[in-house]
Amino acid sequence: MNMELSRRAFLRTSGAGLAGSTLGAFGFGEAEAAVAAYVKPFHLANTVEARNTCTYCSVACGIIIFSKGDLRKGEKADIVHIEGDADHPTNRGTLCPKGAALKDIVKSETRLTQPMVRKPGSDKFEPIAWDAALDKIARAMKDDRDANFIAKNKDGVTVNRWLTTGFLAASATTNETAFATYKVVRSTGMLGFDNQARV
Ligand code: SF4
Repeated sequence: MNMELSRRAFLRTSGAGLAGSTLGAFGFGEAEAAVAAYVKPFHLANTVEARNTCTYCSVACGIIIFSKGDLRKGEKADIVHIEGDADHPTNRGTLCPKGAALKDIVKSETRLTQPMVRKPGSDKFEPIAWDAALDKIARAMKDDRDANFIAKNKDGVTVNRWLTTGFLAASATTNETAFATYKVVRSTGMLGFDNQARV
């Protein structure tokens, strides 16, 4: 029978046997090895897997998020484990210490889950709805560009520059999103544009 087995599936299915045989080599008895071999499968039993990208740096390692409950079905999901994606061409299942700690970041009590705004004269940030935040940002950008856009330099040469606003984009996106972001930002004449991935 011709059976295709992904690298990830191979690691998962062979993990139990590997744990058992390794412990056996260290002199553990069959009973202890059997218990150790079943710890991981039980830990991830009945979880939903979702592929994603590490949020931290431009290496953009592939990760797999294991959760109890499926957000895609409208269920409340609790993330129980995050690990490197062994099928991902960038990291082949490995993660640096930051990526390996992703679950703690996701579950951190201080993690921002909504936009915040500090109103003029205020000394504190307050939550703002996503739509309202986007409208506010678009309004501020348009007003600033209208006031400060430089069509020609002092020698009369067309330059079309907008130097008074900058844009910082995220690295954990697809190539297509990065391409579209670059085109949109540059088409406004903005020069202050940076990204962890340096698109
Ligand atoms: S796991 Fe480490 S190297 Fe990979 S994207 Fe995350 S921070 Fe970067």
